[in-house]
Amino acid sequence: MLYLVPTPIGNLEDITYRAVRILREADLIACEDTRTSGVLLSHYNIDTATTSYHEHNERDKSTELIARLRAGQTIALISDAGTPGISDPGFYLVREARRADLDVTALPGPTALIPALTASGLPSDRFVFEGFLPKKKGRQTRLAALSEEPRTMVFYEAPYRVLRTLDDFIEAFGAERPAAAARELSKKFEEVRYGTLEEVRSYFAALDSIRGEFVFVVGGSDD
Ligand code: SAM
Repeated sequence: MLYLVPTPIGNLEDITYRAVRILREADLIACEDTRTSGVLLSHYNIDTATTSYHEHNERDKSTELIARLRAGQTIALISDAGTPGISDPGFYLVREARRADLDVTALPGPTALIPALTASGLPSDRFVFEGFLPKKKGRQTRLAALSEEPRTMVFYEAPYRVLRTLDDFIEAFGAERPAAAARELSKKFEEVRYGTLEEVRSYFAALDSIRGEFVFVVGGSDD
């Protein structure tokens, strides 16, 4: 059995009892970064063996993990933070497991996009998750394709691209489009800044430095 186990996106308390039990009982935990996950695992006294599964070894490692699953082992897949398979290498292993007709169980749990959306104040009855925009090639094309999107849009972004991304949003969606920038969710410096794209941009442009992990939520074309 392959279990997809969500882990906290900041606050170590954000993990379910079931997730801790599955991590303890598994034969092996596949982590993106064994050192990063080591902090969580030692906090919960989980001493299950770990192995690394990340974007640079996903093909070779998947072959090995699929062989172990076929042999009857229980493997728990975790990522550095949040739900494995959401903007991280989890998808590839799950597809390989499905193609091999192996059992996969996904546990519900933490992910950055949902608290960003629900705290944003933007309509959450329908939304699209866009993950990371392409860094260069295809970026403007993707944004242009979304300019008439009527549903709320959710994007992931790295901290050093915040202003550039807000500029790109303003160009694609207009300065008056409502938006929210959620950073450091569940952490000490958690902040959700709501306003027009122009207001959100001005706020961050006035800061000396922009730190933290960000989720952007942008209203749809009718908002
Ligand atoms: N698998 C993760 C999930 O379920 O959300 C996402 C992994 S992706 C590699 C990392 C991105 O998630 C960050 O660049 C940021 O956009 C978002 N993120 C993760 N933790 C966050 C947090 N505590 N606050 C805000 N955004 C976060």
